[in-house]
Amino acid sequence: MAAAAAAKIAEVRETTRVERIGAHSHIRGLGLDDSLEARHVSQGMVGQVSARRAVGIVLQMVRDGRIAGRAVLLAGQPGTGKTAIATALAHALGQDTPFTSMAGSEIYSLEMSKTEALTQAIRKSIGVRIKEESEIIEGEVVDLSIERPATGVGTKVGKLILKTTDMETVYDLGGKMIDSILKEKVQSGDVITIDKATGKITRLGRSFARARDYDATGQQTRFVQCPEGELQKRKEVVHTVTLHEIDVINSRTHGFLALFSGDTGEIKPEVREQINGKVAEWREEGKAEIIPGVLFIDEVHMLDIECFSFLNRALENEMSPIVIMATNRGITKIRGTTYKSPHGIPLDLLDRTIIVPTQPYDEKELKEILNIRCEEEDCQMSDNALVVLTRICKETSLRYGMQLIMTSSLIARKRKAHEVDVEDIKRAYQLFFDEGRSVQFLKEYQQEFMFNEIDEKDDMEM
Ligand code: ATP
Repeated sequence: MAAAAAAKIAEVRETTRVERIGAHSHIRGLGLDDSLEARHVSQGMVGQVSARRAVGIVLQMVRDGRIAGRAVLLAGQPGTGKTAIATALAHALGQDTPFTSMAGSEIYSLEMSKTEALTQAIRKSIGVRIKEESEIIEGEVVDLSIERPATGVGTKVGKLILKTTDMETVYDLGGKMIDSILKEKVQSGDVITIDKATGKITRLGRSFARARDYDATGQQTRFVQCPEGELQKRKEVVHTVTLHEIDVINSRTHGFLALFSGDTGEIKPEVREQINGKVAEWREEGKAEIIPGVLFIDEVHMLDIECFSFLNRALENEMSPIVIMATNRGITKIRGTTYKSPHGIPLDLLDRTIIVPTQPYDEKELKEILNIRCEEEDCQMSDNALVVLTRICKETSLRYGMQLIMTSSLIARKRKAHEVDVEDIKRAYQLFFDEGRSVQFLKEYQQEFMFNEIDEKDDMEM
């Protein structure tokens, strides 16, 4: 028994140690100072100073609510931190501003049309901050009557007269208020509060004025001086939801549980129209505020011409988020056409887009990023090994170098070393190919593979 219990405890401890490390888990913000200048190394971000500064300005515009309907394109070579910068922006925006991240290829789903997928992504990126005022009234119960239905079943009804300052108000009691009254055992002469928004009644005690009439049973009771004046305490309750969440909750075919399963399917345009109308009404009444968030579309060249034209129109809508796109493509075909265009994006969309370029890293910056990743992955690495790894990154790619951190760390552990050294990096480098060596290998051994379609003369094309 004891052994089994011990084993169980050990097992539990084991699971608490599991930590997931994502590709961007080291990034905690844009690393900007108060004047939006990028610190060289801060919040997990290294270098790429002008792009970070540009995105910092975008951040400020989002915060000021002034950027609805704009598009930003992060353009640069693979591994230059485009996704990292977008992730940093999401951190910097904080919880209350919606941030949705998707890859261009995600719209090709069998469950919904491309435009529906885009519409959902757009509406997930628009927040509605709803303000509700709850009014709490405090007063003395002058009279209270609850009528039970003659049959004993059915809804109870009642009346309550509440005295505040110099006014008596009669309340018709419904189900919730009656439940509250019975639960709190409210009687005439009690001082209570009524929350007008929720109908909740709270008993504060006996009215001080009635203290003398109160029975002499010796019960402990609180006497409350009331009414001293009409106490109307206004509380403001604020919650932020996204337009998509409102859509799903109001879509009869799905119901709010779909929010948890993520299986929302297509939402009818009528539902959305109704919701837009309702939100517009709330805005006019000052009950709600629109918070344009950020929609990040990675690999935007994967969208096709229909999606681009849909996006173009959507950006003109008053309730539109800021769209940040990222691509590593140069001049390439616009999907769904035979036309070529910069970044595979049609010119009319490109025309309304602010382009932020990202630059390749120098050796010092690569070393700094690798160092941060070593810390993130809990990997001790000798200085020499880090220098070799940086050199490998320079020759291959940052991503490949990052992969070698974990693999070489496992190799070092196998030889019971606490620190990754040059030999572990070399071993990992020999075991795992980067893209360049893999292409070389395929060229040399192409005859041994099935379906080899590359000509000797052909170059690999991405
Ligand atoms: P692709 O075009 O291939 O999608 P990308 O430009 O989006 O590439 P990322 O995925 O952002 O590149 O970067 C590759 C890796 O390097 C990620 O793990 C990322 O977190 C990290 N990284 C890139 N730039 C920086 C930086 N400036 N500071 C810290 N980490 C970075």
